Amino acid sequence: LTDLNQLADECLRLSFHGLRAKDKTFQADFKTDFDPNLPKLEVVSQDIGRVLLNLINNAFYAVNERVKSGTAKQDYLPIVTVSSTYSPLAGGQGGSIEISVKDNGPGIPASIKDKIFQPFFTTKPTGSGTGLGLSLSYDIVKAHGGELNVETKENEGTEFTVHLPT
Ligand code: ADP
Ligand code: MG
Repeated sequence: LTDLNQLADECLRLSFHGLRAKDKTFQADFKTDFDPNLPKLEVVSQDIGRVLLNLINNAFYAVNERVKSGTAKQDYLPIVTVSSTYSPLAGGQGGSIEISVKDNGPGIPASIKDKIFQPFFTTKPTGSGTGLGLSLSYDIVKAHGGELNVETKENEGTEFTVHLPT
């Protein structure tokens, strides 16, 4: 059984410290808001961990891009928020878990929003992205009977939500 709060927290720290070690100019903060009543799930934690790591790496990359591009306001604070929610079904017959990775980066332009889950689609410079993260993440979540959704607003940020049935 996997404690997804713990897994998400580990992925967040791994990503944050990894990126900071690789790039001395890396700037970002993070927050967590975990539902303490999240039930443990019978999932392959390596698979879900890979999904969360992909989403979190993308989010940190996005907020950093906003810092580096110089388009953000002077008081801009790059931040990634990872949260979880448990929604039980009436009658105690299971329910669903949502893990959300939210950033206040540049958002995803409407013109490419349809393409981000396609394999090899990337807007990152050669060598920085394979374009496989989201396509792989989508497949893994589907294989667990779940959904991967995105909500985004240009110049405000992006939120990816993993929905998993319990
Ligand atoms: P990669 O990270 O290698 O580019 P992904 O499949 O993880 O591949 O993401 C595909 C593309 O989706 C990215 O290149 C980027 O354009 C866009 N994207 C993903 N996550 C975010 C995000 N949090 N904010 C803005 N754009 C994003
Ligand atoms: Mg990626």
